Amino acid sequence: MEIEVKSQKDDEIVFIVRDAEVPFVNAIRRCAMVNVPKIAIEDVNIIRNDSAMFNEVLAHRLGLTPLVSDLDALEGLSLPEDDDWEEYSNGIMFTLNEVGPKVVYSKHLISSDSKIKPVYDTIPLVKLKEDEELKIEAVAKVGYGKEHAKWMPTTVCAYKQYPDITFNDDVEIDYDCASACPRGILKSDRRSKKIKILDIENCAMCKSCVRASTNGYINVGYRENDFIFRIETDGSMPPKEVLLKACEVLGEKADKFIRFSEEGGSK
Ligand code: SF4
Repeated sequence: MEIEVKSQKDDEIVFIVRDAEVPFVNAIRRCAMVNVPKIAIEDVNIIRNDSAMFNEVLAHRLGLTPLVSDLDALEGLSLPEDDDWEEYSNGIMFTLNEVGPKVVYSKHLISSDSKIKPVYDTIPLVKLKEDEELKIEAVAKVGYGKEHAKWMPTTVCAYKQYPDITFNDDVEIDYDCASACPRGILKSDRRSKKIKILDIENCAMCKSCVRASTNGYINVGYRENDFIFRIETDGSMPPKEVLLKACEVLGEKADKFIRFSEEGGSK
C-alpha cells in the first residue's frame, strides 16, 4: 500500500491511498469519525436565561461549539471508559455571564483551562435585548463521536475510488463530451485532435460526459484499489492528528483480535 498526501491545511487533508481494499479504507474512515476522543460541553447549568431562546436549545448550541481538542489539550483528561468520567470535577469548567443588549458569542465563554477554549471567537450563541441577562456554568468532557455528533472531530470524512477516464480510439472523436463536463475536467484540443484530461482527481464520476457522447467515445470508471481520501475537521484538532489517532484505534482493535486468536479464542 502507498499513501501520497495531495494537500494539507490546518483543517483539511487530502491524500491518495493506492493498493488498498474498501473494507480497510472504510474502517479508517469510521474510526476517524466515531472513535477519536474530542472535548465538548456535556453538562450545562443555566442559572439565568432572560433571552428568547429555550434553555434546551441554548445547551445544545453550547455542546456543538467546537473546543480546542488537540493532543496537548487532551493530555491528562479522563476518557469515557475511565471510572471517574461521570465526576463533575473531572471536566473543564466554563462560565458565561453577559447582560444585553448584545449578541453573545463563543468568545464570551470563559474557560478554567487556558488551553481549552472555543476554536472560533465569533460563533453567535444567543441575542440578548436591553437588560436581559444570561448566566451559565458548563462542564466540558472528553467523548467519542459514536455517542454524540458534538464529539465528532470531522465535518467531512470521505473517500472515493480513483477515477479512470478512457477514450475509444475506434470511433470518431466526440468533442461534445468535453463541453458537457460540469467541472471543466475535459478540454477539447481541436488542433491536436485530442481531448485533454486536466484534473482527473476532481472528477465526480457523474458520467455527464458519457451521456453526452452519442458514439461511446468516452468511458468513465474507477480504479478498484486506489482511493482519494479527504478529512476536514471543525478546527478542534488538526486532520493529521485525527488520522493518526484513527489508525492507532484500528491497530488496537486488530491487536485484540490477534491476542484473542493466540490465546486459542478462549476469551
Ligand atoms: S464523469 Fe462527470 S466530472 Fe468526470 S469527467 Fe465526466 S462529466 Fe466531468
